[in-house]
Amino acid sequence: MRAIQVTELGGPDVLTVAEVPAPACGPAELLVDVDAAGVNYIDTYFRSGLYGRDLPYVPGLEGCGTVAEVGAEVAGFAVGDRVAWADAPGSYAEQAVVPAAIAVPVPDGIDAAVAASALLQGMTAHYLLTSTYPARPGDTVLMHAGAGGVGLLLTQLAVDRDVRVITTVSTDEKAELSRAAGAHEVLRYDDDVVARVRSLTAGEGVAAVYDGVGASTFDISLQCLRVRGTMALFGAASGPVPPVDPQRLNAGGSLFLTRPTLAHHVRTREELLWRSGDVFDAIGRGAVQLRVGGRYPLAEADRAHRDLEGRRTTGSLVLLPR
Ligand code: NDP
Repeated sequence: MRAIQVTELGGPDVLTVAEVPAPACGPAELLVDVDAAGVNYIDTYFRSGLYGRDLPYVPGLEGCGTVAEVGAEVAGFAVGDRVAWADAPGSYAEQAVVPAAIAVPVPDGIDAAVAASALLQGMTAHYLLTSTYPARPGDTVLMHAGAGGVGLLLTQLAVDRDVRVITTVSTDEKAELSRAAGAHEVLRYDDDVVARVRSLTAGEGVAAVYDGVGASTFDISLQCLRVRGTMALFGAASGPVPPVDPQRLNAGGSLFLTRPTLAHHVRTREELLWRSGDVFDAIGRGAVQLRVGGRYPLAEADRAHRDLEGRRTTGSLVLLPR
């Protein structure tokens, strides 16, 4: 089968197409024909070496596809079922093996590109909003990269819960998309974000900041929080945040700082089905419109990564292997 194979760490150029053996389906796994693979920022961290990974490897964690083979010990799935997954290495390929424990049935009416990019970013938005800082109606929260994959989903899920959302974005086009997703106030990074947020919250600051940008926004985020507010640092699109002196949390007003990750929020099948069910339900009833902002042939995975890291993308991105 054709797959993207990474044999050395580096820039997008290391994403090259190779003919590799189809993966073997283990007893607790599904072999899936990949209809669409989600492209996520975390894929760039593995590719560059920011996160560790043995070489060579087939990138991609997320996808949607059709079951081609069912492992001997698997119950509840059949050949021909449509499934999606958020954390099975090797999605940038024509076929992937997915542990049945993390495969989720895809509801009818949700197309492959949407399903392939709904879970990783959507369940992240879900846990940030329900578990990391459970935002309440009337709360005001700040989120950066408001027109990105996570940003658009987080905004819509928050608005659906009557939370007031302030976002930051880098361009007019992104500002328009963020507003269309329901953001009440959209700021640019070169605005005086701290002063604007203070004035939009009668001097109080926001209840939580959901920050997936990292190095370039971290200090601003801390200064935007209200007393006892929550700083949820969930990514590093602009680079990792340097070490932090805990005393800053005291000075900022007894702040809470957390660095959450999806894997710790889908630890049981029950939790996975709850979060994925809520995301698919929100899409199904139209509370969330998932924007697939870029569709790339498998062989152009390098272009997808260049666009993502170059801040040229909006919404979610998928690779189409066939
Ligand atoms: P996005 O679609 O949000 O793309 C990243 C965006 O970050 C860009 O479009 C850009 O938006 C903004 N950005 C700001 N500064 C930079 C920079 N220097 N370089 C590149 N981008 C920059 O990506 P995702 O939705 O896939 O992911 C968003 C974040 O969420 C990432 O940090 C990712 O690692 C994290 N994440 C974390 C998870 C977790 O469980 N912890 C799970 C899923 C994602 P703009 O131009 O508007 O600034």
